[in-house]
Amino acid sequence: MTTFKSPLDLYKILPQTNCKQCQLPSCLAFAAEVIKGEKRLSACPHLSRKILDTHQGNLSARTSLDQELNAVLHELQAKVTDLDFKEAAARTGAVLANNRIRINCLGNKFEIDRQGKVTSHCHTSAWFTVPLLNYLLLAKGSEPTGNWLAYRELPGGSEWNPLYEQRCETPLKKLADKEPELFSDLVDIFSGRQSDHRFDADIGVELLPYPKLPLLICYWLPEEDLSSKLQIFYDETAGHNLPTEYIYRLCTGLVVMFEKISQRHSR
Ligand code: SF4
Repeated sequence: MTTFKSPLDLYKILPQTNCKQCQLPSCLAFAAEVIKGEKRLSACPHLSRKILDTHQGNLSARTSLDQELNAVLHELQAKVTDLDFKEAAARTGAVLANNRIRINCLGNKFEIDRQGKVTSHCHTSAWFTVPLLNYLLLAKGSEPTGNWLAYRELPGGSEWNPLYEQRCETPLKKLADKEPELFSDLVDIFSGRQSDHRFDADIGVELLPYPKLPLLICYWLPEEDLSSKLQIFYDETAGHNLPTEYIYRLCTGLVVMFEKISQRHSR
């Protein structure tokens, strides 16, 4: 039986025509919804009975994206047991301390032990630890250059971009529209750096999710008949230090975290 570990795995068996008849903007967006259990494979009218019969049962057994992420997390933890910690720490901008990798993420210290267990005084979830372990395993160690690119300009980014916009930039823009304090909170809580006027933005905040993976959130206020705009930029080396799919996952996790913080503030 085929196991789909990610939306990209499932995407490979879809027609890849982005015809939108499933009411989603692309085949990749459809794959992500199916993996989450929010759509059935049969909602794509172009799949043969054979494909549906072969794969739907397997997909129906998946109950939630959290379960999916936890399964991926266990696989990554197994790979971490084989990692050369000294080399990985040097490559990723972390340090080795007490036989653990200690890494600074968004201004907070996280530690990874030999079993791949991630600990921190902050709340952690699979949303955050999956991209973090991928960063440790896959980062090539390229030093950021300060040249910023949109997500779609990263390697493979155009393929993921419709889903990325839907899950990352659009909800973050809505949050920024509703919560004017958002950007000062990001600076205070996550050691962000104010970086206004880049790309003529009204507000800019630079964050460092991982030591060699900076991102820049730019926000343009509404003007007369123009609505507000938000875009997240990545260093041109980002794709060397984390595959584009995991940058999408990282960003989705960050947006969920920002939404939770904002809900707590508004209580
Ligand atoms: S209906 Fe099928 S082919 Fe069309 S976009 Fe959706 S998944 Fe892709």
